[in-house]
Amino acid sequence: MKLGKFLPLAALVASVWAQAPSSKEVDAVYPEAHALYLDIHQNPELSSHETQTAAKLAGRLRTLGYEVTEHVGGTGIVAILKNGTGPTVMLRTELDALPVEEKTGLAYASRVHTKDDAGHDVPVMHACGHDLHMASIVGTAAIMAHSKDTWHGTLMLIGQPAEETIGGAKGMLDDGLLTRFPKPDVAVALHVGNTLPAGTVGITPGVLNTNADSLRITIYGKGGHGSAPNTAIDPIVIAAQTILALQTIASREVKPGEMAVVTVGYIQAGTKNNIIPDQAELGLTVRTRKADVRKQVLAAIARITKAEAEAAGAPRAPAIEHYEATDLVYNDPALAQRLRGTLEAALGKGNVVMEEPHTASEDFSYFVEQGIPGFYFGLGGADPQKFAEAKAAGTLLPSNHSSLFAPDVDPALHTGIAAEVAVLRNLLSGSAEELHKTMAGSTPAQ
Ligand SMILES: [Zn+2]
Ligand SMILES: [Zn+2]
Repeated sequence: MKLGKFLPLAALVASVWAQAPSSKEVDAVYPEAHALYLDIHQNPELSSHETQTAAKLAGRLRTLGYEVTEHVGGTGIVAILKNGTGPTVMLRTELDALPVEEKTGLAYASRVHTKDDAGHDVPVMHACGHDLHMASIVGTAAIMAHSKDTWHGTLMLIGQPAEETIGGAKGMLDDGLLTRFPKPDVAVALHVGNTLPAGTVGITPGVLNTNADSLRITIYGKGGHGSAPNTAIDPIVIAAQTILALQTIASREVKPGEMAVVTVGYIQAGTKNNIIPDQAELGLTVRTRKADVRKQVLAAIARITKAEAEAAGAPRAPAIEHYEATDLVYNDPALAQRLRGTLEAALGKGNVVMEEPHTASEDFSYFVEQGIPGFYFGLGGADPQKFAEAKAAGTLLPSNHSSLFAPDVDPALHTGIAAEVAVLRNLLSGSAEELHKTMAGSTPAQ
């Protein structure tokens, strides 16, 4: 940007161009980002236990000149790079993997097993692609550190633990994320998935996903001999009735057109075929988009569950434990519009797709709810050829959390880095006031 000292107009044009990193810039940091990807993919750690992962990330960011603080909200890390006056922009990656056994057959597939919090031996896999997010953030961090003449302000990178258990964002906030460090003017994150081909990104202005509520329901019966059901009250039969009755909430109670999902993800009861157990446990996930629908669905679950137990003559009302809740992620529409242009310039117009809201959930919403406008975008992960074949055949590629989830790393990681750098340079190109003006008038959905 030396040119700018003599030719201000040229500098302005150059700075707009500079928001899109050159392929040379991305290629220069790619080998190290890819090596980190392979390392982290083969050494995944469960939610809240990401100690090695966090240390690897912290070490790399420190080497790049970032001021790194570890153990923020457990295993979380915060890396700050100050570069003059300007906005503070936060970019987040998650750190955690899932208790899934990898079946991709890849040479670098995870073979890790560990003990979960309940002491059970479980396989571990980066089945949600958080390893790719970490590799991308390290590549991005390197480019940003090497090109301080292309942006100004404060760059804040965070490695957030426990996204999969919806606890990490809150943990970092409770540990002073916004008081011990500069408060971000904007928060950015991306997520890789197989609904888009690698090489592309997806933008959803406004409501991005869903409110999520996790419920644990214990249904009480009266145990007895399997040959004498008349002497018992069978909690398995009550559970079966309850599961089917719960399906009428979305189909019969919620207004047609409103979004509601009630999924019973597990049922646990009994030990032996000829024993009627004392109790049965159900695990539910509930997804909604509107506050009133969320209230209606949760109330209906409680009503139906209690009524089914009562109808069966259960000795006690069921226990309903609402153990996890997170709100939907809201993308500031004006910000999304602005960054759409930035990403189109960086990746090519055809590689930026406008997407419908989806039904997943995540705790990035905790940051947005602190009054920090958010931009959360999708990163294509599917092998473009397999994606096209699946589309032609009307099938779907394995989704996140599947034991077969395998992003097409090379194009996805290149694109992730290029997209993040372009977004950060755009957000860190003017003043904080100018940035807030872009977002003025943009209000959350509920
Ligand atoms: Zn996930
Ligand atoms: Zn994820």
